[in-house]
Amino acid sequence: MSETKGQCACGSVEYSFEEEPINTAFCYCKSCQIHTGSDKWFGVWVPKENLTFTKGQPALYTRLGDSGKEMIHQFCSHCGTTLCIDVKVANFYSVSGSTINNNNELKPKMAIYTASAPSWAVFPEGVPKYDVLPPEFS
Ligand SMILES: [Zn+2]
Ligand SMILES: [Zn+2]
Repeated sequence: MSETKGQCACGSVEYSFEEEPINTAFCYCKSCQIHTGSDKWFGVWVPKENLTFTKGQPALYTRLGDSGKEMIHQFCSHCGTTLCIDVKVANFYSVSGSTINNNNELKPKMAIYTASAPSWAVFPEGVPKYDVLPPEFS
């Protein structure tokens, strides 16, 4: 997997990234629930220098994460799909696994913010669960 491509629902914004992601995580925080309309966000963590927008430019929505640092959502202003989140505290994009074109090989390595999950959440089997973040990330 040298190059991975993805796009929003309407195709106005496309991106590609190089090399393997540094992590893959299901995030069950409340913000991810609201943004996905689901119990979780499938975050594919890509170093910022590895990702480029190849078509269109995303609109931005900035919120503060738990760390107090900015989380800048990059979304299509036409169809509203969130493509990735610029995680300022760690200098990577949390790319939406759902927007990756060929994502059948992707698997989550961990479940994070599970303390915020709704009672009806579905957790992956055989994957470590963390109330917030694993010790090495907090
Ligand atoms: Zn779009
Ligand atoms: Zn989250």
